[in-house]
Amino acid sequence: MRPEVAATVESLIADIYVRHDGLAGRAAELVATATAAGDRRHADLGRLILAELDNRSGRVDEGVRRARDILRSTDDRLVVAHAHAVIAGGLWRVGDNAAAVRHAYPANRMLEDGDPPALRADHAIILALQVNDQRIGGVSHAEFRAAQELADATGVPALILANLNNWAWCAYTHGDLDAAAELVQRMRAHSGSTGEPLNASCADTVARILLETGRPREATVVIEAAIAGAAPTDSDAIPAALITLADIQRRDGNIGTAMRTLEACREIAARDLLPDVDALALRMLAGCHAELGDFQAAYQDMVDFHEAWTVRRSEQSDVAARVAHAQFAVDEAHRNTERFRDLAERDALTGLWNRRRSDAELDTMLGAGRPAAVALLDLDHFKQVNDTYAHAVGDLVLCRVAEILQTVAGHAGRHGGEEFILILDADPRTAAQTCEAVRAAVAGHDWQAVAPGLRVTTSIGLTTVRPGDDARSVVRRADEHLYAAKHSGRDQVSSDPRTGEDSPGGSR
Ligand code: GH3
Ligand code: MG
Ligand code: MG
Repeated sequence: MRPEVAATVESLIADIYVRHDGLAGRAAELVATATAAGDRRHADLGRLILAELDNRSGRVDEGVRRARDILRSTDDRLVVAHAHAVIAGGLWRVGDNAAAVRHAYPANRMLEDGDPPALRADHAIILALQVNDQRIGGVSHAEFRAAQELADATGVPALILANLNNWAWCAYTHGDLDAAAELVQRMRAHSGSTGEPLNASCADTVARILLETGRPREATVVIEAAIAGAAPTDSDAIPAALITLADIQRRDGNIGTAMRTLEACREIAARDLLPDVDALALRMLAGCHAELGDFQAAYQDMVDFHEAWTVRRSEQSDVAARVAHAQFAVDEAHRNTERFRDLAERDALTGLWNRRRSDAELDTMLGAGRPAAVALLDLDHFKQVNDTYAHAVGDLVLCRVAEILQTVAGHAGRHGGEEFILILDADPRTAAQTCEAVRAAVAGHDWQAVAPGLRVTTSIGLTTVRPGDDARSVVRRADEHLYAAKHSGRDQVSSDPRTGEDSPGGSR
């Protein structure tokens, strides 16, 4: 079951690079199967694939929000790493490249040698692209090279081609046509030898670079084949390919054909809400009109282009702002939850752990099987303090004792009224020394500063944890010792008989 599920995740991650039809259904099925099997890791990875599909379908704020929810809800290293990758992809799509890269790095760093190869390749591909996007001063080939090694190791054509495609495109846009041409050669060779067709996005890169290196005929063949074979859901790649095709036609002198191609492109852009592409098509249409001498129409197209482009930019920064704001709101809520949880676990008067928290700590410590000792403290004749000095003085005493406990023992809980609990992660001898130090510190405190004539002492019952103990049995034994301390005259520590290295419970 598990290896099968893992293989499903890998194939989904690779298939996202090819086409999106049917992917959401497969990812949802993965979530359902994994959830039914109690397999949280793969259920979360399935959810992240759904978030990635959101990102790629223009719903970036939704995709990033989903990925952030998952990121916060788990410690699973693979899931956390992939959530970072999905967030990086979403932020990059809305133009927040700087924030995107900050997620792309941990997405890579957190993965290890034995992790699923497709996941490692995916994260490396994202990092390489983002490090190079909008980079000034040439391509940084190191990240692309590293990603290519990982992609090649998967043997999955989609991943191998995806990185070559990004790499070639970045080289091309940075003006390194030689490197771009060589990478395009590799793409075509790979496509040829594996029979994997170039998708519209790869074909677009290949055709652009063929065109720029003086091979318009080959460029036309490549781009026409890709457009004809593209899935209808390969939505943003087809119009981009059409623009390249129009550019080839225009440079070839077929202005009318180029304009018809551009109009077809604008139809898809309008249908699929792709304002970027529409703006590019408009700009090229303006060029076509100008070449035909129709300067009036050319001018109108340029005006439309600028308007479309401005709208697009403000839409993009609007989404980026919404994504950032959602993150801020979530962080706030998170901080508040932490604060409220902390408040709910503390005693209002002394600030010590309350009973609920100290019970939970004790359970945790016992569950972890750590050598632990438990001490119960009860102030001596405390009723008299209240009666003699007023309740407010009693409160003050409780606060001072809490401070002493924290200073001497590190932490403590208020077990009830004037009773406290110490959970000591220490061997019996050290625990006994700590209790004695607490007793002496309380008795020796300068209580005169609180109220003239005030004396405060405490009785302590200490026991070490034994095999088979639970919270209730340990506390009961400590309470018995406390009772003994009271009966032997108060202001003293009573503990297990023969407390020390040779005691029966001492090695626990
Ligand atoms: P013993 O040495 O046997 O423990 O005597 P004691 O007087 O300390 O014991 P007892 O249980 O008779 O009295 C406990 C007192 O602690 C009674 C209660 O009013 C007081 N107390 C409990 N909680 C608080 C508190 O929050 N503030 C103040 N000021 N007093 C408290
Ligand atoms: Mg008491
Ligand atoms: Mg008391």
